[in-house]
Amino acid sequence: MDSLKEIFIIIALISLAFILGGQIDAVGWSLFGASLIWIGLQAREFRKIKRWANRPLRRPRNGLESWAALAYLPFRSLTRERERTRAMAQRLREILSLTEIIPDGFIVLNDNGDIESLNAAAKKLLRLSDKDVGLGLGTVVRIPEFLNFIRTDQQQDPVEFQSPFAIDTTLEARRLDTELGGAIIIVRDVTTLNRLLTMRQNFIANVSHELRTPLTVVSGYMETLTDPDEDPALKLDLIERLPSPLRRMQSLVDDLLLLTQLESSSEVKQSAMSLAEPIKSAVEELRPMFSDDSQISVLIDTERQIMGTQSELHSVCVNLLANSIRYSRNSGPITIRCEDFGDGVRLSVRDVGLGIAQEHLGRLTERFYRVDMAGSRTRGGTGLGLAIVKHVLRRHHSTLQIQSSLGVGSTFFCDFEKLSPGENPEVNLTNQEKNI
Ligand code: ADP
Repeated sequence: MDSLKEIFIIIALISLAFILGGQIDAVGWSLFGASLIWIGLQAREFRKIKRWANRPLRRPRNGLESWAALAYLPFRSLTRERERTRAMAQRLREILSLTEIIPDGFIVLNDNGDIESLNAAAKKLLRLSDKDVGLGLGTVVRIPEFLNFIRTDQQQDPVEFQSPFAIDTTLEARRLDTELGGAIIIVRDVTTLNRLLTMRQNFIANVSHELRTPLTVVSGYMETLTDPDEDPALKLDLIERLPSPLRRMQSLVDDLLLLTQLESSSEVKQSAMSLAEPIKSAVEELRPMFSDDSQISVLIDTERQIMGTQSELHSVCVNLLANSIRYSRNSGPITIRCEDFGDGVRLSVRDVGLGIAQEHLGRLTERFYRVDMAGSRTRGGTGLGLAIVKHVLRRHHSTLQIQSSLGVGSTFFCDFEKLSPGENPEVNLTNQEKNI
């Protein structure tokens, strides 16, 4: 409908008024009638606008352009606004769906402290549901520390509290106040983080403790050695004893460095190898620990090869064998062996020594964990040996297994996958058993 139509209607009405009025000699009345028709048309258009105004997002249906223009302008701007609102609502839905995948609980509160929205993690951690939306957070979560925390008006440090829903689970809540008077509460499970922090503290305490003992010995010796009045024979004796605490510190530092290296380097250079090599090199390295009546048997009962790192498996053999020697009574027999086991190869170290009570077995590979036995610290270990073994074996897709009975003896063993036939180069190993 354009303005021509309106002009045409006006001209038509006036013309009709003149023609009809001329014929009946009442032009004035005809013009009056034409005006009434025009006013009627306008009134009809006005009603349409009124009807449209009730639902202004519908396209206006006006026949005359002046009225149509009146409706079209707000209609267009309202339509644009609606599109914008729809896009924003879509964005909001996307953002809310993103919060669903955040592992931390996320609760949006309005200025009354009522829940406006919450994500899946918040529901899980605080046992909430969609039904709680619209309710006050303080009325649906009844954990005292948490209640105190959300009732405090001011933004504050995060608070930690025990979850009443999961045993040994610590939660942390953090509050971020918004400019509009509401707040966002973030709740996360900090159990693992706390455990790691405790482990780190314990580790530092253990390292300091282990280093302090030999350091105290060395500084004691040094005091005597630098005293001009001390007996020269005593000084000579101390000089001979000095290497022992120094060696202890050296071993501890070496083991710590090895452990750190094993933990930090994920890339492992492995090649086809036989376990016979690290077994033999470990026996050679530990020879100074053997006594005259040591009965140590080395059994190489397999020709299979595995994928491994020579130096790392050497340290596995050294640690297991050294422990067997350390914790054996009266130089009892010790056997270090590799043999076929199922489709793979088994490495085992067996002694008939002190043995270990069952309750300790699960914790032996923890750093610095020692069975509290008489003289356990004086036997010379660093407390890191089995932790190193565990890490090396993990890099070789194997685990340390322990069978032990108190007073009877222990067997430490681990299984490796053998090389698949295509990878397995020809090896020429002979079964050997020798007593050293
Ligand atoms: P350590 O340097 O103290 O030997 P490890 O990590 O090698 O540290 O061993 C942890 C603990 O496990 C030892 O302190 C000891 O109590 C126990 N253990 C290890 N091997 C044996 C074994 N063959 N016989 C008895 N106890 C053992």
